[in-house]
Amino acid sequence: MTKKITGGCRCGAVKYEITAEPILAGNCHCRDCQHATGSTHLPAIAFPADAMTIIGEPNTYSITADSGNKSTRVFCPTCGDLIGGYSTGMEGMRMISASSLDDPSIYKPTMDIFTDAAQPWDVMDPDLPKFPGMPDMPE
Ligand SMILES: [Zn+2]
Ligand SMILES: [Zn+2]
Repeated sequence: MTKKITGGCRCGAVKYEITAEPILAGNCHCRDCQHATGSTHLPAIAFPADAMTIIGEPNTYSITADSGNKSTRVFCPTCGDLIGGYSTGMEGMRMISASSLDDPSIYKPTMDIFTDAAQPWDVMDPDLPKFPGMPDMPE
């Protein structure tokens, strides 16, 4: 049995439950994640979409990424916390921000992605594999 993973926003209006192991976990340094987090990168964890249940009514905001994919971020309408997002380039997957986990310490990044967009004041773990854009996804 997979342990249930839970998280949500600061004010408690939006919560989620996930009943699957992560597909992947990594730091995304793209411009959209810089905007969304107010920082250098998004600590992102990907799960199968059908394993995630959202409790509450988050807002969404969509942009068309450089790749042409429509990228949607999901956030709390009350406190503004970023919950995560999804992309038309990754059908069937949901990303969550590790910061929104009830226990963020379970986050174990395995890569840095979109490092081409990283800021000069960004500091990365030299031991993690680096990808200039999006790496090939596991099927
Ligand atoms: Zn909130
Ligand atoms: Zn990103």
